[in-house]
Amino acid sequence: MPALISLENVSRVYGSGDAEVRALDGVSLTIDAGEFVAIVGQSGSGKSTLMNILGCLDRPTGGSYHVRGIEISSLGPDQLAGLRRETFGFVFQRYNLLATASAAENVEIPAIYAGIDRTERQVRSQELLQKLGIGDRGHHKPSELSGGQQQRVAVARALMNDAEIILADEPTGALDSGSSEELLRLLEDLHKAGRTIILITHDQSVAARAKRVVEIKDGKIVSDTGATTKRSENTLYERASQESSAWMQFSEAVKMAFRSLHANLFRTSLTLLGVVIGVSAVVAMLAIGEGSQKQVVASIETMGANLLFVRPGAPGTRIRGSAIATLTEEDAAQLAELENVIAAVPSRSGSETLRAGGADYKTTVDGVTPAWVIAKNWPMAHGTFFTDEDETRRAAVVVLGATVADSLFDNQAAAIGEYVFIGSTPFEVGGVLAAKGATAWGQDMDDIALVPLSTGMMRIFGQNYLSSITVAVEDAKKISETEAAAESLLLARHGGVVDFNLRNTASILESVEETQNAFSMLLGSVAAISLIVGGIGVMNIMLVSVSERTREIGVRMATGARRSDIMMQFNTEALVVGGMGGLLGVLIGLGVSLALATSGMSIAITPTPAILAFSSALAIGLIFGFMPARKAARLDPVIALASE
Ligand code: ADP
Ligand code: MG
Repeated sequence: MPALISLENVSRVYGSGDAEVRALDGVSLTIDAGEFVAIVGQSGSGKSTLMNILGCLDRPTGGSYHVRGIEISSLGPDQLAGLRRETFGFVFQRYNLLATASAAENVEIPAIYAGIDRTERQVRSQELLQKLGIGDRGHHKPSELSGGQQQRVAVARALMNDAEIILADEPTGALDSGSSEELLRLLEDLHKAGRTIILITHDQSVAARAKRVVEIKDGKIVSDTGATTKRSENTLYERASQESSAWMQFSEAVKMAFRSLHANLFRTSLTLLGVVIGVSAVVAMLAIGEGSQKQVVASIETMGANLLFVRPGAPGTRIRGSAIATLTEEDAAQLAELENVIAAVPSRSGSETLRAGGADYKTTVDGVTPAWVIAKNWPMAHGTFFTDEDETRRAAVVVLGATVADSLFDNQAAAIGEYVFIGSTPFEVGGVLAAKGATAWGQDMDDIALVPLSTGMMRIFGQNYLSSITVAVEDAKKISETEAAAESLLLARHGGVVDFNLRNTASILESVEETQNAFSMLLGSVAAISLIVGGIGVMNIMLVSVSERTREIGVRMATGARRSDIMMQFNTEALVVGGMGGLLGVLIGLGVSLALATSGMSIAITPTPAILAFSSALAIGLIFGFMPARKAARLDPVIALASE
């Protein structure tokens, strides 16, 4: 049967060239199961280096090391972690307990990595603490325990997985003489119970308690009292190695994540705030974008979805209508004859000042035919619209929009029959239109005055060509056919020249939707940027967390955590931040949207942005947490343990 532990000509060299330190220099040592060995030497003689190699925390630079006949250099990081988990229990001079966990939880850590379920873990850790005389201290944090008690917790932790070998590096170094004595007795008891004890110390009187003393000096063994007990290995209690389930590991990681986030509550809140702002911005911005789009579409539809607009000038020209003389009243008359057309209203507009009594008001005056009322489907508030007869007579009558009537007269009803001067011509007010409010782009539709087209041409505009023709169709579904018919009619009338342009409300809707989509994209990308900034915050805090907790990572690795366990722990922490931030952000974003909605803004709340933002927050936790987690997982256990 191979020896439990066997070193052959092992060396460990730090640095190179002039800075080279041979911490271990050709050490050969065999330790059998059940021995109680003290390794003694002055400070700097290489004891801790030896212990790190024995405990598979570090690899030798030369020679070979076998545990139960297995060559260590052939093992990968996870296999080494497995060996530490099942074979070695570490007791350090500075205890190395996790400050945020209770004594009992500290004892449980190695069992978590061994895949032992929670109840069994708790029972066993309580048992161990009981045996070590601190059964009533399990729920205390390490800072609430004395040095001797903390070291007992560390011993209990070392025993948690029934480790065959207890490796203790200067375990009495920080203890008073009473506690030292108790600890040494505890080690003796463990030895009697069958465990292999390797005790490292610079103190000869401590070393004297062991059955075998190996002295080391300048990295070389200078004396060895020789092997003592030999016991057959089968007296040892062997724990079947379990593979921990991924789910159990994850739920442990979530628990630890909450604990460590709780330990830095203020910092956690600030990191969360970053994610929350990003997520709530996405949710609220998209609700606003969507809402304003819906509103615009709705108000375009109130304009009438059954209208075709003909304007003079070729499509794309930006010249004002007044400069182009291509549309005529005859065009309108012919358009009115087309199939599916209810009315074709020619119009000429201009900006004019209206005067009544002492008041002046500048507005748009439209010369239109009586068919305007039918085309626009616009009711009257007071009086009547002008008639075909007024049109033929070139009567000086005017119909006022609500805004104009309110500006010129005390009340709308009183305006009927009064006179309004446009230029030097008095016009009798025949009616006032019902109020319609503003268009989607904020133009007041009621800021208008209408006169018969013939009168307008003669008395106001002094021209006989049109600024537009509005065509109302009967069946809005056939609007494109009607548009095509109108186009060929006009083309024929204009000698094949496209000196007009035709649009329908549907195409206006389309272009408005395009603008609105661009607007939503803009809002969305601003929100997405703040989400990324939140993610960078997560990464930053995770990196800080990794460097702050390097020693904790070292302890976890020494007690058997694989790289994947460490990786999972930090990834989970970032994921928890992302998830909590996402959830809070969605709630706040919805709250803000609702508040804006009640204050009168048009908001559309749909589930998509919330789902999108929440999953982005989770993704951000994963992505931005990955780098710090990998950094943690790749730490060298020895270096991590040595960090402050
Ligand atoms: P001991 O535990 O007996 O006090 P160590 O094993 O810690 O001694 O150190 C042995 C020698 O190796 C010392 O000279 C120390 O300075 C050196 N040493 C230990 N660790 C490192 C390291 N990471 N880099 C360089 N030199 C080291
Ligand atoms: Mg040391």
